[in-house]
Amino acid sequence: MSTANKPARPRRAIASSETAREINRDILLRTIHLHQPVSRADLARLTGLQPSTVSVIIGQLIDEDWVLPGELGRLPRGRRPTFVVLNDRHAALAIDLRPGRANLAAVDINGKLLGRELVAYDLHAGSSADEAKTAIARIAQVARKLRTAHGDRLFHGLGVSVSGRVEQKTHRLLFSPNVPWNQIDLYAELSRELEMLIEMDNAANACLFSERWFGNFSDVANMLVVSVSEGIGAGLLIDGRVARGRDGMAGEFGHMALEPVSADAPVCGCGNTGCWETFASNRAGLRYYHELAPESELASFQELIELAQAGDLRALRAIDRMSVYLARGLATLAAGLAPEAIIVVGDCTALWPRIRPVLESQLIARSFTPQTPRVAAAVDGDAARLRGAAAMVLLKTLFRSTDFTLRLPRADEQVADRESC
Ligand SMILES: [Zn+2]
Repeated sequence: MSTANKPARPRRAIASSETAREINRDILLRTIHLHQPVSRADLARLTGLQPSTVSVIIGQLIDEDWVLPGELGRLPRGRRPTFVVLNDRHAALAIDLRPGRANLAAVDINGKLLGRELVAYDLHAGSSADEAKTAIARIAQVARKLRTAHGDRLFHGLGVSVSGRVEQKTHRLLFSPNVPWNQIDLYAELSRELEMLIEMDNAANACLFSERWFGNFSDVANMLVVSVSEGIGAGLLIDGRVARGRDGMAGEFGHMALEPVSADAPVCGCGNTGCWETFASNRAGLRYYHELAPESELASFQELIELAQAGDLRALRAIDRMSVYLARGLATLAAGLAPEAIIVVGDCTALWPRIRPVLESQLIARSFTPQTPRVAAAVDGDAARLRGAAAMVLLKTLFRSTDFTLRLPRADEQVADRESC
C-alpha cells in the first residue's frame, strides 16, 4: 500500500506486538480467503505487509493447519511461487430452524455445502415444550449423522439460524414466531445433544454473515439484509459492525408503523395494527390475492408465486401491491441508515425481475441524495442461512484479534504496527 499519506500514528501504535501479530494474522487470513489461491508475494502486495512478515505468519498458519501450501504458480521467469489456500478440512455444522422444517448442512471454511439434510416437524405456536424437545432430539440425531458422514473434516461447532432474536451473551431466544422454541432452553438442549461450540443468531443476521464472508459484499461496511417471510426482519451492518441494540433486538423493522392505527386494519402478530409486515410480508401478499379472488382456496405463498409465474393477473397484482409496500419501508430504512446495499431474502425473490424495479424506483423517488443503495436478492435464501450459520462458528474460531462481529480489519490497519511483527 502507499505510504505517501501515512496517517499520524494513532492509539494503535501502543498496541502490544502480540496484538499487532494477531491483527496481521487476521488480515492475511482474510486476504487469502478473498484471493485464494494466492502467492506470498501477492499477499505482501495486497496487504502492504513486509514480505518477511508474510512468510513468518504464513509459516505459522501452515503449522496450525489453517492454511495449505497449494499448487505452484507460473511466472515468465524465476522461481515459481507456491500458492496458499485456506485448508478446507475446517468445517462447521449448520442448522436453519424454519416453521415446519429444519435445514441442516455441513459447510467447509470456503462456504461449500458438503452435505444437506432436512427434518420436518409439526410444531406450531401452541405446541408443548416436550414436543419441541422431541423435535430438537431428532434434529440433533441428523446433525450427528452429518458429522459422521464427513469424518475427514474438523468440525469446530454448530451455527443455528432462527427466526427470533437471540441475546448473544446469554444465548437466550427472546421470541420465536410460529414455533415454540422459546418454551425450551434451545441452546442448552442442543449443547447437551451435540457437545460442541454452539452459536445462535437471527436468520437475517445469518444471511448478513453469509453475504459478508462468502458472498459478493465482502467489502461493504453498511448493508441491510431484509428477510421477508411470514414477518419482516432485518440484519444491520453499520460501519462494519452488526448492530444488535438492547438485548440483541435491533432489526425488527417489521413492526415499524407504516400506516396509522386503525380498527379495520389487519392485526399484526405483535398485537398492533399498521405494522410494515402486515402490508409487505408473504401473509400480506396472500391477503391481497384473496381480496381480488375471494372464491380462491389458495393456501400458501408458494402457490401464489407459482400462479404469478404462470402469468395470473390477480396474483401479479397482489405481488405488485406487496412490492410497493416493501419498497416504501425500504425507502424509510435507506433514508435513516444510509446503507450501501440492501439484500432481500425470501420466497418473493423468485419474482425478482418484477419486484426489483418497484424497489429501485421507490428508493430513487424518495431519496434526497444522488446516491441510492444497490438492491440485490439473496440467490438462494436457504443456502445463505446455512452458510451464514456456519460462518458464525468459523469466523469466531478463525480470527484472533476481532470479537465476534463482522468488523474484520482492513488492509490499512497494520500500518502502525507493521514494524513490530
Ligand atoms: Zn407488529
